[in-house]
Amino acid sequence: MARVITDECVKCGTCASNCPVGAITEGDAKFNIDKDTCIDCGACEADCPSGAIKAE
Ligand code: SF4
Repeated sequence: MARVITDECVKCGTCASNCPVGAITEGDAKFNIDKDTCIDCGACEADCPSGAIKAE
């Protein structure tokens, strides 16, 4: 299991700054989570101001 970032992402970057394993990188339209790196800790979901991060 991993978290995923939906189209509600506004590219604020908060999640990428707070991910403990560096799984989040900036893409063209939104930030993305590398599912092989994500440890499913949930930190990004709690921090996202637009509610764009969900459990897969
Ligand atoms: Fe990073 Fe945790 Fe979010 Fe996975 S759930 S992307 S490990 S902050």
